[in-house]
Amino acid sequence: MGLTRDFFIKLSENETLNTAAKKYGLALGAHKVVAGTDIETTIESIRALNAKNISATVDNLGEFVFSKEEATAAKNNILEMIQAIYDTGVDAHMSIKLTQIGLDVDPEFCYENVREILMKAYECGNMHVNMDTEDYSHTVQTFEMLDRLKGEFKNVGTVIQAYLFRASEEIDKYQDVRLRLVKGAYKEDASIAYQSKEEIDANYIKIIEQRLLNAKAMTSIATHDHNIIDHVKKFIAQHNLNKDLIEFQMLYGFRSELQVEIANSGYNFCTYVPYGQDWYGYFMRRLAERPQNLQLVYKSVATP
Ligand code: FAD
Repeated sequence: MGLTRDFFIKLSENETLNTAAKKYGLALGAHKVVAGTDIETTIESIRALNAKNISATVDNLGEFVFSKEEATAAKNNILEMIQAIYDTGVDAHMSIKLTQIGLDVDPEFCYENVREILMKAYECGNMHVNMDTEDYSHTVQTFEMLDRLKGEFKNVGTVIQAYLFRASEEIDKYQDVRLRLVKGAYKEDASIAYQSKEEIDANYIKIIEQRLLNAKAMTSIATHDHNIIDHVKKFIAQHNLNKDLIEFQMLYGFRSELQVEIANSGYNFCTYVPYGQDWYGYFMRRLAERPQNLQLVYKSVATP
């Protein structure tokens, strides 16, 4: 968690750079980790994954949404993508970010947008919709949204970030909700979150085990960390757990060979497929997580 991480997280939060990047298409090597800029290309990328026994959770990229017009445009794009998934029959569901559909504009307006998305997804084959978690203040609002929606909709779930002290409580509270478990991608204060890799990894293992022993709904273990994955596989075998209710997830373009290997060894595998013009913040957070990902940038500069 050093300087490099802070540097790229700062870059990811820079609104001017986010806006500027939209004009340049997928630059700096982002095409390796973003599946497409439009729905058609993205559906083709999902088909290619499905052919490898991998399902997809699809994310319409977008940050810094501060007007109802932008939020409505994003919501409409998500509705279109849900329809396209249904029409083409690809094996995929949606991931959404509440800030993209108006959380910072007006929480009630955002709530109505989420309801519309969930209703549409329900009509399209009871498709699952995952609400991604973001930085802490938005994460708190995401859980409030889940509490309002989970009685009415069974096709909604969210993400637990292991770096937060409160993660274990959330695991207990949402046993019957489909959950994705991650380490956590943002920079959070030491008063609410573990800071060192060792502490985060230990809490990640702790909440995964806690969840897998008590889950009454699907659990997605979303990590590129082979040590964690190996540990989880052993845990599943030791406790004879039902693999149908567990899947591994990784991001599009990362450790692709390992993704296929896991998918072909008797585990459910789902790839997180981001698409759209607004790739910059997402891309910078990936560089923050793993400076080696800078190779994507070097390669794109060396090979035009
Ligand atoms: P790291 O801690 O980054 O890496 C651990 C070790 O794994 C490394 O030391 C290395 O040995 C190995 N490794 C990692 N990456 C690679 C690679 N590319 N190639 C080779 N070896 C590698 N965060 C949120 O806050 N909210 C979300 O909603 C959210 N959704 C996510 C959805 C998915 C599908 C995934 C995969 C991640 C999501 N994240 C989310 C991000 C997550 O919180 C982490 O920031 C991110 O996954 C990095 O942590 P890691 O567990 O992959 O492993």
